[in-house]
Amino acid sequence: MLNVAPVRAFQDNYIWLLEDAPGRQAAIVDPGDARPVLEALRKGNVTPTAILITHHHGDHVGGVRGLLAHYPQLPVFGPAGERIPSLTQRLQEGDVITVPGLNVEFRVLDVPGHTAGHIAYYGGGALFCGDTVFSVGCGRLFEGSPEQMHASLSKIAALPGDTLVYCAHEYTLDNIAFAKWVEPENPDLLQREREAHALREQDQPTVPSRLDVERRTNPFLRFDEPTVVAAASAFAGKRLRPGAEVFGTVRYWKDSRFD
Ligand code: ZN
Ligand code: FE
Repeated sequence: MLNVAPVRAFQDNYIWLLEDAPGRQAAIVDPGDARPVLEALRKGNVTPTAILITHHHGDHVGGVRGLLAHYPQLPVFGPAGERIPSLTQRLQEGDVITVPGLNVEFRVLDVPGHTAGHIAYYGGGALFCGDTVFSVGCGRLFEGSPEQMHASLSKIAALPGDTLVYCAHEYTLDNIAFAKWVEPENPDLLQREREAHALREQDQPTVPSRLDVERRTNPFLRFDEPTVVAAASAFAGKRLRPGAEVFGTVRYWKDSRFD
């Protein structure tokens, strides 16, 4: 079992610390900012063993240099298909890595869509997916097509239901507000809303979430569900095919009305 702790950064980013059982060593996922990470390491008396990057955006890589200034030997894992300075290990679909200092293996998934070379790390019952899936949402399509993102999300949706999804942002309540336009009567969504509200009132993260909960609540994983197909078709004003077409329309719907 992985020990995972969030480090908050910026407005709503989570930088994930993967710790070994005694809590002495940790790998760092998507350090957008070095300062809060260095603080967490110092407070916990934890030695970093590696940096894992999902994609090239500044809020995910901006702290790499600052961390390397303190720990010059740290290996930096990241996507082979993106231009990220200071990567030491370039990864793509099918690669399996053993995270230094931690007794865990991660399988690398290519998940293009938010960015062209975006990767995710899957292992130890956890998925570190950057800005690909959020709880009840998904990343915007900055560099990919709806077809690519649909394929990436389908790959993720096929993982075991008890997988814990560690995304990189606290967007859940905003995402739920949109999801209720798509499926206003989805009981699992309404349940998730109550739980997420309660957590945020206590200033607790709503993530990670379980993949099976995402499959029941996240409109961006529900492109084959009759309710979502019907809602997307009503928005588009024509009958849409389940799958990529419905996904693309729901993404466009959220972009045009919400974000
Ligand atoms: Zn991003
Ligand atoms: Fe981000």
